Amino acid sequence: MTFRVLTGLFGHESNAFSKLPTSLLNFENYLLAFGDDVPAKIEGAKIEPAGVEEAAAEYGWDLVRTVVAWATPSGPVARDAWDTCAGAILEAAMSKGPFDGVLINLHGAMATVDYDDAEGELLKQLRAVIGPDVPVAITLDLHANVTDLMTEHADIICAYRTYPHIDQIETSRRAAAVLQRTMKGEVKPVAVTARRDTIEGLDDGRTTTDNPMTTLLNRATDLELADPGVLMVSIHAGFTPANLYEAGPTVSVTGDGSDDRFRAIADEYMDYAWETRHFDSNTYLSVDETIGELHRLLADGTGKGPIVVADFSDNPGSGAYGDSTLLLEGLIQTDLQNACFGTICDADSAAKLVSAGEGATVTVNLGGKTDPAFGAPLELTGTVTRVTDGTYVAQGPRWKGVTHHLGPTAVFKVGGMEIVVASNRIQLTEVEAFTHAGIDPRERDVVVVKSMQHFRAAFAPLAREILICDAGALSTKDISKLPFTRLRRPIFPLDLD
Ligand SMILES: [Zn+2]
Repeated sequence: MTFRVLTGLFGHESNAFSKLPTSLLNFENYLLAFGDDVPAKIEGAKIEPAGVEEAAAEYGWDLVRTVVAWATPSGPVARDAWDTCAGAILEAAMSKGPFDGVLINLHGAMATVDYDDAEGELLKQLRAVIGPDVPVAITLDLHANVTDLMTEHADIICAYRTYPHIDQIETSRRAAAVLQRTMKGEVKPVAVTARRDTIEGLDDGRTTTDNPMTTLLNRATDLELADPGVLMVSIHAGFTPANLYEAGPTVSVTGDGSDDRFRAIADEYMDYAWETRHFDSNTYLSVDETIGELHRLLADGTGKGPIVVADFSDNPGSGAYGDSTLLLEGLIQTDLQNACFGTICDADSAAKLVSAGEGATVTVNLGGKTDPAFGAPLELTGTVTRVTDGTYVAQGPRWKGVTHHLGPTAVFKVGGMEIVVASNRIQLTEVEAFTHAGIDPRERDVVVVKSMQHFRAAFAPLAREILICDAGALSTKDISKLPFTRLRRPIFPLDLD
């Protein structure tokens, strides 16, 4: 029997405290395609819709494609993007049914200018169209803030199990397998979600070390194998800078039928997340500490490959602006040699450098333009060593096969530091962000990346050492100054210890 399945990807991690709006243009700059244009658009890309396509081929589904849309994290999604992308899913639900099932790829931490819980709203509106009986499977980022509304309208909840997120295809495949069993009538999934009074925990979901997240993921895998009633355990570290009542870590258990024991499993896992909430595997260095440690390691001279420094708090992948100069200023003042820095997002400076051309000596006010509280623009004089269109195909495990568009881009060499100055904000996860501009990070002594954790997928294998610098930009670990107004209180770590 051929099942007709509605599918789509609409993903965004919305930082409620970013002043940058997220319009349809931001999706166009990253990933956007509709209907039957989707397969060509995602050809070769290791992302969730490719897993849906694989599953559809295996199970012989009649797949109704709606949209694939992804943008770099930034402020709440504007109406043009919501109307277009959610609209594509809802329009197809209305006009192309009936469906045997739904498999939608979401992030789980999207807000729009109208909805704090955008995925909950989308699922509610979708459910109103398709009715209560069509099974709905959703895939989520491991940093989803899973709400009761999302849980009410989704039957199967399935998140990534890796951070860096390198299991996107597998996540779609796992959700598809349960959906297929559901459509065949073998199981009747019901999802429950548990949370505690915390907005942090599970080591922010990192899976590159032994920690509470990997402990729970291992238990989840064992439980799914041992207990046929447990169809899926989905563990979410949450996304902190969300102005959402229910933000924070959650565990969702998709059980076969409605049974209190599934709720008890979710509760027990979340009790463990609460008990281990203080665990953090990172050591966060200030700018001064980072510079001190860099000089110590450089003088030491042992080890192969570059020292990789993460500019943690200005990670565009969590909605930070990508133009903070707090770390860059310190590194330039200390006159590092054979170093590269990627990227500063500054379209004005990029335009000036590009028009000056390769070989030109130029003075620009670099970075610090979105919010000078995170470092004022730096007046720097240097040489343009390379001009590019900012386009490369990612080869690292995080975004393999996805084409990134940094926009007009220049390499600006100031002293011994090559700074990649880009026009579009993209988290630096890929070696190709450097190599496409003629910089081989393997040959540098110091490589600085604006990323929290995803850089590890491509850079850890070549790094001699990794340092994490929290310079105090928008995504700093110190969340005490974020102006939460709708988050439930009291909550850890703002009110509770
Ligand atoms: Zn994530």
